[in-house]
Amino acid sequence: MLCVGRLGGFGARAAGSLQAGIRARRVSTSWSPVGAAFNVKPQGSRLDLFGERRGLFGVPELSAPEGFHIAQEEALRKTELLVDRACSTPPGPQIVLIFDELSDSLCRVADLADFVKIAHPEPAFREAAEEACRSIGTMVEKLNTNVDLYQSLQKLLADKKLVDSLDPETRRVAELFMFDFEISGIHLDKEKRKRAVDLNVKILDLSSTFLMGTNFPNKIEKHLLPEHIRHNFTSAGDHIIIDGLHAEAPDDLVREAAYKIFLYPNAGQLKCLEELLSSRDLLAKLVGYSTFSHRALQGTIAKNPVMINLFCRTLKDFAMIREMKMKLNPRNSEVMPWDPPYYSGVIRAERYNIEPSLYCPFFSLGACMEGLNILLNRLLGISLYAEQPAKGEVWSEDVRKLAVVHESEGLLGYIYCDFFQRADKPHQDCHFTIRGGRLKEDGAYQLPVVVLMLNLPRSSRSSPTLLTPGMMENLFHEMGHAMHSMLGRTRYQHVTGTRCPTDFAEVPSILMEYFANDYRVVNQFARHYQTGQVGTVILSQWPLGCDSWPSDLSVVPHWGLNFNLGFGGDRYSSYSSGIVCCLPKFVMKSQWLFTNIGFLDSRKEGSLSPYTQHWKC
Ligand SMILES: [Zn+2]
Repeated sequence: MLCVGRLGGFGARAAGSLQAGIRARRVSTSWSPVGAAFNVKPQGSRLDLFGERRGLFGVPELSAPEGFHIAQEEALRKTELLVDRACSTPPGPQIVLIFDELSDSLCRVADLADFVKIAHPEPAFREAAEEACRSIGTMVEKLNTNVDLYQSLQKLLADKKLVDSLDPETRRVAELFMFDFEISGIHLDKEKRKRAVDLNVKILDLSSTFLMGTNFPNKIEKHLLPEHIRHNFTSAGDHIIIDGLHAEAPDDLVREAAYKIFLYPNAGQLKCLEELLSSRDLLAKLVGYSTFSHRALQGTIAKNPVMINLFCRTLKDFAMIREMKMKLNPRNSEVMPWDPPYYSGVIRAERYNIEPSLYCPFFSLGACMEGLNILLNRLLGISLYAEQPAKGEVWSEDVRKLAVVHESEGLLGYIYCDFFQRADKPHQDCHFTIRGGRLKEDGAYQLPVVVLMLNLPRSSRSSPTLLTPGMMENLFHEMGHAMHSMLGRTRYQHVTGTRCPTDFAEVPSILMEYFANDYRVVNQFARHYQTGQVGTVILSQWPLGCDSWPSDLSVVPHWGLNFNLGFGGDRYSSYSSGIVCCLPKFVMKSQWLFTNIGFLDSRKEGSLSPYTQHWKC
């Protein structure tokens, strides 16, 4: 929701800086620059070895791990000043601006550190980032129970005349900041508020420890694993190493073994989880909720755990998975926790007549990135440009940096693509906000910066990285989050991009999956990496059976429009009442999402889902 006057000035400046930022690359003529950035091996080192060292994400302090301490101290110093300012400013819209700046200065360190602590290959960086997260997280919890700060906002919201004079965006952001105070226990007495801060800090620590622990591979003595499935895993002496779920392996036994061994509950993790759950439960009850799920789901589309349980019981997807398993494996047809990803793939393959091995050569990573560029250009007038990162700007040499440029508004932000597998990298595909967009006091727009993390195989001597349809769908999904961050341009960073209810944040990504599964879209970019043969013939069995580019997909204009609406009631209601209800995939993905948010915490209510039963092993 940026005012139009600002955008004009911003666009002109951005275009100038972009010209300077993009370097020419020596590329194969058969790929566009953005395709080549992902398919063509660069000549020599990609990194600028002789230029000035700029630090991670271009933040000068972060050229060394110690920089996190400097950034964290600077953010905490600024926090003190802003708290004083907020408490001494008379009620009015200025209060909301100060709150947002306060939140921005803390998030800019915490969000960046949150990513670095799990993704940086060097332990010293990870440890320094972890410390920064802890220190900023503690400050956030203290601020959320700071009575003086609360009262400055409360004076504004209690004055009806003043509230009525606020524009809807400012009013909504003020209410959201108030909501943060309320769920943090601002209404409690001093002793209980202190207890709430301590519990929140403990929960942050335990969550971090638990999540780190979920990435470690497990090993098993070779002789314990049936001989005929051992070749699916890595061997190390007398042991077999299991470093992931092998969720797409066609052999039920391989998936079952991977699931049970990789997720084998070790005593340390279980103790951490038990402590985490009981701390969450204590916090929820202390601040007035019956369970942590009720607290976590406030303000989401799902609303509460009862809705989630109801929702999961009505899922058609599981009936389809059950049917498929019954058909393929009638002697062992019960759906197990390691089954859904594989059988959903089988259902899709059968419905769309896809044989993954036939299609992979058409989906090189570069071809898929070209496809995204075409799609975003046609839908939204956006182009992706590969930029050369400066020395020290990225944490691994294979990370690519993309500038996102709109045809009339100029540079919208940056996406760092951390796509390839490497040792110690978490096995998860996800989007991280590194810096949120917001309109600064001087009228310039703070550009959003995000990271997309995938776990794709690296290119080999003979071929670039080739994607299965499932991997391609995931790439499109994560790009949906990135576009949400780039296009959800709001005045306040507190509500920018994906900073919305966690379930709602999946909507743009699910829409992107639909494009990845529509052959009219796929035909625009599927191209054999060796022969250059376009995919039209081989992909003629892709769904929908139509040859032309979708010119009348009613969802398309909706999508672009709603992206730009910013936060607030309009966007929520148009998505939730219209599009969401008719998207079966949203249902499927939400199941996983809700499992993460709600089910572990509703365990005490006796509603274990099949997905969480393994924790009881
Ligand atoms: Zn997602």
